[in-house]
Amino acid sequence: MSGKQPPIGIDLGTTYSCVGVYQNGKVEIIANDMGYRTTPSYVAFSDVDRLVGESAKQQSALNPQNTVFDAKRLIGRKYDDASIQEDMAHWPFKVTSDGDKPRIEVTYKGQKRSFYPEEISAMVLGKMKQTAESYLGGPCEDAVVTVPAYFNDSQRQATKDAGVIAGLNVLRIINEPTAAAIAYGLDKKSKGQDRERNVLIFDLGGGTFDVSILTIDDGIFEVKSTSGNTHLGGEDFDNRMVDFLVQDFKRKAGEDIQNNKRAMRRLRTAAEKAKRALSSSTQASIELDSLQNGMDFYTTISRAKFEDLCVDLFKETLEPVQKALDDAGYKSENIHDIVLVGGSTRIPKVQQLLAEMFQNRELNKSINPDEAVAYGAAVQGAILSGNKSEEIQQMLLIDVTPLSLGIETAGGVMTTLIKRNSAIPINETKIFTTYQDRQPSVCIQVYEGERAMTKDNNLLGQFHLHGILPAPRGIPQIEVTFDVNANGIMEVSAYDKSTARGHTIQIKNDKGRLTRAQIDKMCQDAILFADEDRSAKARIEAKSQLENYVHGIQLNINSQNSHLPIPAEDIEILRQTCEETQRWIDVNSDASEQQFRSKLKDMETKCVPIITRVYQNMNGTEKVDVPEAKIIDEVD
Ligand code: AMP
Repeated sequence: MSGKQPPIGIDLGTTYSCVGVYQNGKVEIIANDMGYRTTPSYVAFSDVDRLVGESAKQQSALNPQNTVFDAKRLIGRKYDDASIQEDMAHWPFKVTSDGDKPRIEVTYKGQKRSFYPEEISAMVLGKMKQTAESYLGGPCEDAVVTVPAYFNDSQRQATKDAGVIAGLNVLRIINEPTAAAIAYGLDKKSKGQDRERNVLIFDLGGGTFDVSILTIDDGIFEVKSTSGNTHLGGEDFDNRMVDFLVQDFKRKAGEDIQNNKRAMRRLRTAAEKAKRALSSSTQASIELDSLQNGMDFYTTISRAKFEDLCVDLFKETLEPVQKALDDAGYKSENIHDIVLVGGSTRIPKVQQLLAEMFQNRELNKSINPDEAVAYGAAVQGAILSGNKSEEIQQMLLIDVTPLSLGIETAGGVMTTLIKRNSAIPINETKIFTTYQDRQPSVCIQVYEGERAMTKDNNLLGQFHLHGILPAPRGIPQIEVTFDVNANGIMEVSAYDKSTARGHTIQIKNDKGRLTRAQIDKMCQDAILFADEDRSAKARIEAKSQLENYVHGIQLNINSQNSHLPIPAEDIEILRQTCEETQRWIDVNSDASEQQFRSKLKDMETKCVPIITRVYQNMNGTEKVDVPEAKIIDEVD
């Protein structure tokens, strides 16, 4: 074998995977040992063997319990994740919990064995690595691996771990639509179209659906927005077909195969094959000998029937397209190119519905839909390895954060550090302070979401920064930094400027990030509740202003701190006013914004004349600290 090979690009798909390499100025998509350019993401365990890819999928009907697929739906998630619980009903293999992690239980060489999803994905990645090695004739170590745009940190990290288990050095994890965009950009550039173009990538694969809008300008890609559905794809269409065929067989043969795992697996394979055929012909046949109790199942299904079974699912793809347009601030007319990616975009009805949304514009199918993602990943690998080829030299990639990221400040307000759809990598710092006098620590609670109050957003993680020196509230300066790296993994650090103490956490997905459906809902809610949120935030601000005012006056009349010549009777009036107001706040902490504001007015009416008098008596020689109302815990 020769020396180290160039980095490979792997599209680790839910149902199929694909590998490519950039060599001699172009991308090669590498065929597997059976001659296919995509490989099923399947692993099977038998009494004698472990099979990966095509051979695993082919024997699945005979060995359904020990044939594992969909590891991508499990990776980086917790066992009790609602989506896993829901998916389990459809899987012929057994998923158990190990602590909070899911494990897949199989019988291998006569013994019970269980594997983490990372290990299964590692076996698929290992197969792709082998495929590349036998083509390139040398060991492949470096790789770029793709994930859906909305994979959270934990899912990205787990995918990276799978690469390490497979013996790969994962140079970078990139988003699938971004990878497809790279493939597309190169394609365009090679045809000499250099002017700025807005491109919509419509990626409908086996298990996930991604939409992204990006601008390509002189070789520079900028992702403007991303949207989609983590649970929509070819498998859902297969499920509809299977459900229909189960009923059809029941009607025709009087046999119910729903609990017959082997028969169900055979039917699913036949249904998927028929579905593919229906993309090019209007009729497909199913022929299954002896499906159950010696009964054969021979039937035909028309394209019209298939469309009828799935049209609601096809239409579901249009919502995220609209959302991506809205987020990018574009109308459908602003999009120059619509690019189809993923095997399911071969379905004529899907293409028709999408084209109708874009004034029946021609859809761009020039990139092989199954290979575009691996193609882009291979190019990205070449960029990262410092390939000097002219086509890729000018490319710069920008990905975005799917939701705003921030921390909780006084009163449960979401204070955003990084706005939704910001280009990553990104690093943002803001200064915060304490809320109470002599506060010894602060709790940094990190949230994602678009709502004004953190209770409506998603908590990602939290930590305490201890050892703050005793000081009046508002004095300590806590520097909080959010850092989202190129892989989309976030680190949050807080640093106390006076003690030079700091603390950093990586957001490890303690509670689980949101699914795309939840993210979409959150964005819709943010619009729906915008007025409500604004008034909740205004109420908290008004309360904070009032508290600050009281606090400021108290500081000025406190004998230890005060250097002001305030007459004793005035001090008494101020003290009483402060005490009364503080009592009022304690009792009426749920008061309205108006009530807080009018209370502040009352205080000002009583306090300002006194303070002004003091100022006049001092002939303006010294500045008097009339408390200024501002949010105490966020320093501008
Ligand atoms: P991908 O994950 O992009 O490789 O897409 C795989 C999905 O595309 C699977 O659900 C396949 O059944 C589906 N698919 C592949 N070819 C076709 C086709 N010609 N017509 C309809 N669906 C297809």
